[in-house]
Amino acid sequence: MARAWELVRRPLGMVKAGDIALITRESPSLGAGEIHVRNLWLSVDPAMRALMTKVEGYMEPYALNSPMPGRAVGEVVESRVPEFKRGDKVFHTMGWRDEASGPASTFTKLPTEPGIADELWLGLMGMAGATAYFGLIEVGRPKSGETMFVSAAAGSVGSTVVQIGKILGLKIIGSAGGTAKCAFIRTLGADAAIDYKTPGSLIDKLKRAAPEGVDIYFDNVGGDHLDAALANARVGARFVECGMIQTYNFEDARQPVGLGYLMRIVAARITLTGFSIFDFEHRIAESRREMARWLRAGQIRSCTTVSEGLESAGEAFLGLFSGRNTGKTLIKL
Ligand code: NDP
Repeated sequence: MARAWELVRRPLGMVKAGDIALITRESPSLGAGEIHVRNLWLSVDPAMRALMTKVEGYMEPYALNSPMPGRAVGEVVESRVPEFKRGDKVFHTMGWRDEASGPASTFTKLPTEPGIADELWLGLMGMAGATAYFGLIEVGRPKSGETMFVSAAAGSVGSTVVQIGKILGLKIIGSAGGTAKCAFIRTLGADAAIDYKTPGSLIDKLKRAAPEGVDIYFDNVGGDHLDAALANARVGARFVECGMIQTYNFEDARQPVGLGYLMRIVAARITLTGFSIFDFEHRIAESRREMARWLRAGQIRSCTTVSEGLESAGEAFLGLFSGRNTGKTLIKL
């Protein structure tokens, strides 16, 4: 028998108790060409919310009443193929469960990289690190001395963007909810931190932090953060449209979001580019190489919020939307 989180009802608005459930089912017996893996670490991601609902023109949503997919690192406990042996560490996307089994082709052996802890393959060395790296380098096209604004800057992608930006010689303004998170962003190297939860206009707060204006906006939040960046953009600014977490729990995905400064796109010749890490997956070795180099040089550090036990996954997921996490959210099994 093994446990897995399943989507039992498509959420309306914020995910509620009863939308997802931890279900115990009999494990299938291992077939020829298959391996059986005990999970060690699970990744918790805001994008999982979008995949719980059917959104026109987006990816295929999660199926109801079957284990929720998601990124995981585990250890092979049984193998019926010569390429994998007991004890090998692997990566897969079969998600939020104690254990996973299936065709060997659906698992990838963790690369051998001395000094890199297993869980880093779900963070800096995985999709989160690659999102920050390619989003900033390829879409942000940073030049030393420029000013960058990063929203959700204390989160997984945001905290990595701040650190890479610092390495590249940018002036950085990060935004996050609360004094502790703002202090944390500064320890990462941000020149200024904006607490978006305190009263007052975000446009004015950004203007005070970056009187010269913003050359790059790395957008993880959308809505009023995007509007503040538009209002403060310099001529030729690049906007990396990575995520819009402010809208993920809207009851209607088509609910309009008010933006007052759209005309700035014309006046300041701003380039807004939608970014998806899936367009850069084939280049992940490049971001891993850079991350490993920066990690060894002590120029970047891994920041995580870890919950223990599969049963904690639901709460950890909800924590992404109330800002309970700092850095990458992980479940340790
Ligand atoms: P984070 O670790 O940043 O966690 C989410 C954070 O968002 C929370 O910690 C919270 O921080 C902040 N937040 C939540 N709700 C709101 C809100 N209503 N307004 C403002 N801030 C909010 O998650 P990730 O780093 O994994 O993801 C960050 C963004 O990047 C998301 O939008 C995600 O969808 C996107 N993404 C996009 C990818 C792509 O390929 N395009 C790939 C991976 C991620 P706080 O306490 O500061 O509010």
